[in-house]
Amino acid sequence: MRQQSIAFAALAAACLAVGCARPSRAAADLVVTNATVWTGNQSEEGVRAIAIVGDRIVALGSVSDIDSWRAPATRVVDAGGHRVVPGFNDAHVHFVDGGRQLDNVDLKDAGSPQEFARRIGERAKSAGRGDWILGGDWDDQRWTPPRLPAKELIDPLTPNTPVFVSRYDGHMALANSAALALAGVTATTADPPGGAIVRDARGNPTGVLKDAAMNFVARVIPPLTREQRTHAVKRALEHAASVGLTSVQDMNPAYEDIAVYADLANRGELTARIYAAPLETGWQDQAKIGIHRSFGSVWLRLGAVKGYADGSLGSTTAYFFEPYADAPDTRGLLSDEMHPIDAMRDRLVGADAAGLQLCVHAIGDAGISQILDLFGDVARTNGARDRRFRIEHAQHIAAKDFDRFASLNVIASVQPYHAIDDGRWAERRIGPERIKTTYAFRTLLDKGVRLALGTDWSVAPLNPMLTLYAATTRATLDGKNPNGWVPEQKISVAEAVSAYTAGSAYAEFQEAEKGTIARGKLADLVVLSDDIFNMPAASIKDVRALTTIVGGKVVYQSK
Ligand SMILES: [Zn+2]
Repeated sequence: MRQQSIAFAALAAACLAVGCARPSRAAADLVVTNATVWTGNQSEEGVRAIAIVGDRIVALGSVSDIDSWRAPATRVVDAGGHRVVPGFNDAHVHFVDGGRQLDNVDLKDAGSPQEFARRIGERAKSAGRGDWILGGDWDDQRWTPPRLPAKELIDPLTPNTPVFVSRYDGHMALANSAALALAGVTATTADPPGGAIVRDARGNPTGVLKDAAMNFVARVIPPLTREQRTHAVKRALEHAASVGLTSVQDMNPAYEDIAVYADLANRGELTARIYAAPLETGWQDQAKIGIHRSFGSVWLRLGAVKGYADGSLGSTTAYFFEPYADAPDTRGLLSDEMHPIDAMRDRLVGADAAGLQLCVHAIGDAGISQILDLFGDVARTNGARDRRFRIEHAQHIAAKDFDRFASLNVIASVQPYHAIDDGRWAERRIGPERIKTTYAFRTLLDKGVRLALGTDWSVAPLNPMLTLYAATTRATLDGKNPNGWVPEQKISVAEAVSAYTAGSAYAEFQEAEKGTIARGKLADLVVLSDDIFNMPAASIKDVRALTTIVGGKVVYQSK
């Protein structure tokens, strides 16, 4: 009874506030109040509260304005004065790989063989039948004295669970006896070309396999079951919610991954919105049933394809006009998809004509240039349209090509964390001149190019705060550039947040639905522990998500 009288009072107050023009207006399902809101619209300052009905924002204003939307059933999130921003939208993730990695054993900082074994043993306790223990990233150089691990270290802890854990550089891995048995590797197995089986004094495999020898085991690791894939997606969703991500754009997922997303979407169990871009080589699969860009629901969209122009800087396979400074015999490699180039052009023209969005990985300056050429061909062949080409990574851009990004309206889908990671050694690899237009976020923005921000998770961490920190400080991970590596390419916190929300939404044709906090848009918000707009940029990496809201539902609340 008492609640009803409060409701009546609230309704009466609401009537007063709006002059009873719409006395039957719905009460809010959720109110976020006592917040310092960055809406993404420059003209809107001083927003302190947000009213949400269903999955949409219905009003913004002062605390008292929004109080009029409250009714007894309204859920209230008191932001405690904290900063609220639009939910982050990671424009480039590998979502299932990321979810898998969360369950893999992490051996990176295992400082002794005993600790290495202990972590694997712990993981084995929770392994189901048929599960493998994978991942690792071990580093034998951390041990005193340094020595390679051997299967005897872990065999007693993993009698029935195959283990295959890699060294952090990916060039060797340790298999236990269960894995070697499944792979058929014995004392009589010969070393393959380009690989080696490490053996003890008596010629028996120790479990460590180098380079091509790793394939003996890699090829017997079973593909993911539907159940494992679903588990990986759920882990990834949990992690995304905990760091304030409300949308992700999944690059080259397997079709089986998309099937899991569809299933979770149907059951109402997605807690982040997903835009999926499978490989361009299969573009006809989407085209033949009429799927085109951003087709789907607010939760799951299809209609993009992802291609590859070249490799990566770390493996000297990013494709450049000039040779690598530290490997003068190579300037990198174009991907298989680019051979022959006419076939790539035909596929991109076909996919674009079908209305699919084109997203192509290109890292080296020559790789990027060739994709801009192809995008130009596509636009000429199929005519003008709002098509929003994307170059994924866009790391090392030739000075002559910035204007082409702008004139072809190519979105640069970039991952600033790679800059502070690669920045430790990139100059050694490509020299002092080319680094000036490397991760050139400032130049891109100044040329009027739209940025979409992301991480490439699981290659880099999913936490958006690390991306904002990287884009605004350019402080390399080794601590050697505290004032920024190529500091003239820094962007502001507001520019970075805008690119990570509105920019990423534009990159998936969803700027009308999300990317800013505005009336009518999806209620995707995050409450942050600190005010990223009013703090030293160097501290942004420590900011946390306190509450994550997707479609008006609280999907994460920090403890
Ligand atoms: Zn990627």
